[in-house]
Amino acid sequence: MPDERSAMITQQRPAGQPSDWTAAPELIRDAAQLLWHLELSPDQAGFSADAARDFPLRVPRAYADLMEPGNPADPLLRQVLAIGEETAEVRGYGGDPLAESEFSPVPGMLHKYHGRVLLVVTGACAVHCRYCFRRHFPYNEQQATGGRLDEALAWLEQRPDVDEVILSGGDPLSLSDRRLADLLTRLSGIRHLRRLRIHTRLPVVEPARLTPRLRDWLTDNPWQTLLVLHANHGREIAPALTEGLEPLRRAGVTLLNQAVLLRGVNDDPDVLAALSERLFAAGVLPYYLHLLDPVAGAAHFEVPEDRARTLHQQLRARLPGYLVPRLVREDPGEAAKTLLA
Ligand SMILES: *Cc1c(COP(=O)(O)O)cnc(C)c1O
Ligand code: SF4
Repeated sequence: MPDERSAMITQQRPAGQPSDWTAAPELIRDAAQLLWHLELSPDQAGFSADAARDFPLRVPRAYADLMEPGNPADPLLRQVLAIGEETAEVRGYGGDPLAESEFSPVPGMLHKYHGRVLLVVTGACAVHCRYCFRRHFPYNEQQATGGRLDEALAWLEQRPDVDEVILSGGDPLSLSDRRLADLLTRLSGIRHLRRLRIHTRLPVVEPARLTPRLRDWLTDNPWQTLLVLHANHGREIAPALTEGLEPLRRAGVTLLNQAVLLRGVNDDPDVLAALSERLFAAGVLPYYLHLLDPVAGAAHFEVPEDRARTLHQQLRARLPGYLVPRLVREDPGEAAKTLLA
């Protein structure tokens, strides 16, 4: 790529980004820059400034580099580009599709399932995924920080039946290493915890996040640790990600992936099979394949349930069982995610 082009990509640190990453992430927040980088015009790609006002565009440069120039249908681009269809109002697509606000015993903590709680440790993400079910989530009221973290930990202390904490967000790895270390210190005061799970997309869009300090953090703790990545397409499994995961795998961190089934991105048996193969080559097992949550602005990504089942059957017919993710949907009020296949 010509130098002047690289210079057009902004080098900004998003608010709240770690100050202690070894490589400063380059972030693209402007669609014109992203599309210029890909040799596409905004019209060709279907960009909508209105949609981007609602939920701003945010793409790490490392992720943009995985996209195919000149392809307006690129499955990675589709996940991050704000387009006109988002502004359509579609029945059944709302602001809080999972009724998360009803399952919050303490602000910033979600307790839906037996034995495990989800802690919303930040609202920040490195990337803004257009299909995200939390795009309208009231993060300011729902983050376990400061006094709310005290409350969440006090709640956990009283609940010996809850032995697994899931760090979520936003993206928990968008916290600085120091804040992550503080969090760990505080959690380690709760004696009955046995597992720590981190739900993150960050290493996928910015493999440089897997710093040695972060690796130490993930491995020097008293619990069994699981890292659940979020990749939706085989091309998201870059060599830098595989390299960054290797030491974690060797240190005994369980590596899993969850994907969302998205029209125009991965609703194809070849694409899904390639994703599973690439994940496994990186030491990651496919865990869940989620149906889209009906969040306002994302209806154009919907894959109907019967087609999802067909795709899943096709996947089962060609892959070993351990490479077939569980096809699930989240139904508010249920004791677990609903298995569809
Ligand atoms: C999805 C989810 C979990 C994790 O569920 P698993 O089936 O254990 O992966 C936990 N808590 C909440 C609130 C969730 O939405
Ligand atoms: S990284 Fe996860 S939480 Fe953040 S926008 Fe994407 S899907 Fe949503």
